[in-house]
Amino acid sequence: MKYQPVIGLEIHAELKTKTKMFCDSLNDPDEKHPNINVCPICMGHPGTLPVINREAVRKVILAGLAMDCSIAHDTFFERKNYFYPDLPKGYQISQYEKPLGYKGELALKNGKKIQITRIHLEEDAGKLLHDQGEDFSVVDFNRAGVPLMELVTEPDFESGEQVREFAQELQLILRYLGVSDADMEKGLMRVEVNISLMNADGSYGTKAEIKNLNSISAAAASVDYEIKRQQEVLEGGGKIAQETRGWDDIKKATFSQRSKEEAHDYRYFPEPDLPPLHFEDADIEAIRTTLPELPSQRRIRFKNYGLTGNQIEIFTIARHLGNYYEHVASELDEAAKDFHKKKELKGEFPSEQHLAERLHELSANYIITEFPPLMNAKGSELDELEGFKISPEAFAELMVLIFHKELSSTGAKAVLKEMAETGLHPEAIMKEKNLGQVSDTGALDSVVDSVIAKNTKAVEDYKAGKEASLKFLIGMVMRESQGRANPQMVEEMVKLKLK
Ligand code: ADP
Ligand code: MG
Repeated sequence: MKYQPVIGLEIHAELKTKTKMFCDSLNDPDEKHPNINVCPICMGHPGTLPVINREAVRKVILAGLAMDCSIAHDTFFERKNYFYPDLPKGYQISQYEKPLGYKGELALKNGKKIQITRIHLEEDAGKLLHDQGEDFSVVDFNRAGVPLMELVTEPDFESGEQVREFAQELQLILRYLGVSDADMEKGLMRVEVNISLMNADGSYGTKAEIKNLNSISAAAASVDYEIKRQQEVLEGGGKIAQETRGWDDIKKATFSQRSKEEAHDYRYFPEPDLPPLHFEDADIEAIRTTLPELPSQRRIRFKNYGLTGNQIEIFTIARHLGNYYEHVASELDEAAKDFHKKKELKGEFPSEQHLAERLHELSANYIITEFPPLMNAKGSELDELEGFKISPEAFAELMVLIFHKELSSTGAKAVLKEMAETGLHPEAIMKEKNLGQVSDTGALDSVVDSVIAKNTKAVEDYKAGKEASLKFLIGMVMRESQGRANPQMVEEMVKLKLK
């Protein structure tokens, strides 16, 4: 490529706190009724005084620590002055000189490190609603004063794909930490991208800033679009304008919104109504001890189960499924020990580890493909399995039954569905519903005989060397047994009888 792209991100995330940043109005992003969660403080009435939300400060520090930021020992809030109808005070309380976190980094999968310039804490503005079928706009202040984290990266990205990866990982980290639900469709996470193409002498070119991106895919696509557009402008002998651009999700294109000739003068100054913040090392370390396992650490740990990369990713993103899987895996390790001790499977599985891995693989496949339709996961994907009736112990029993071919895969699915509804253990359900796999030649003998008698054409074809006819005959036996016959056994029986 002739022009090296240079890309930096600015990401805002609404914090998941009970109340707003400087008052006790509720922070409820799901509140549908406008102007309910408001009070004189977040409405900016004269004479009111803000009070710092300790939990919001803790959450931003936690996010900073998760991304290897240094944490400011001394910091303060500042007023960012500007007028806008959704900003009741006429200024936003933010941080400028001394962000809570600075000089962090987050690694991409290829090992490339994206440097994080700063993470600071501020308050959100209200929401303007246009096009309500009237010739005026209305404003909802429920969001005004909600704690907002802003993260700024260095211009370290080179492609839309890298932007996608970073945004997804950040989203996952914020969810793991419980810092934010980070849902872009709901506006809980907002990504702005800055893009330029490097000049021939290696200096930075003029950048365009893209706003109003409503999904991570849109952010990635807007980067790739913008790289092409700027390249075409430059190749045509044109100049890149310094401007803010929007994203048209239908045309999949950016469009000019407004030019940004000179920097705004926000007249930042320290917020006189709030005390400065001071943290001792011990304060920061106390917060560090509350860091949970991070997605990157979890991926490494889950490798030990012998899972595929894809499965590891699913168990990392859907943390509740991964937690469940781990519980089942430990049950299955016990089962593997027992089988091996009893010499049952020693020939086939020379080591206990080998046997355990097969059981792990089986259970991972079942959890990933069969669980999601059985669960009504409420809220975020990371929620624990509330109200899910299948205990890991009962599920492990089911895996052992499948492993020992006491249940066919059709039978297993029926049992699983019943387990989800009743919470019963698999053996009880198999007995009651007569779902066990038929591995008893006596019981299958007459079925195989009748299928052979009824399908003389297929029998002849098979004898003439047509392998597909054998599959057909096996299929007929499976159907007659309502899927309960052991397929390997049926194959052997049919072959034997036709010899
Ligand atoms: P501004 O003063 O325009 O807000 P900043 O220096 O604060 O610019 O940077 C804002 C964002 O733009 C950061 O994410 C930064 O990495 C990115 N950025 C800065 N310079 C460039 C550039 N030349 N090309 C692309 N992105 C850039
Ligand atoms: Mg800036």
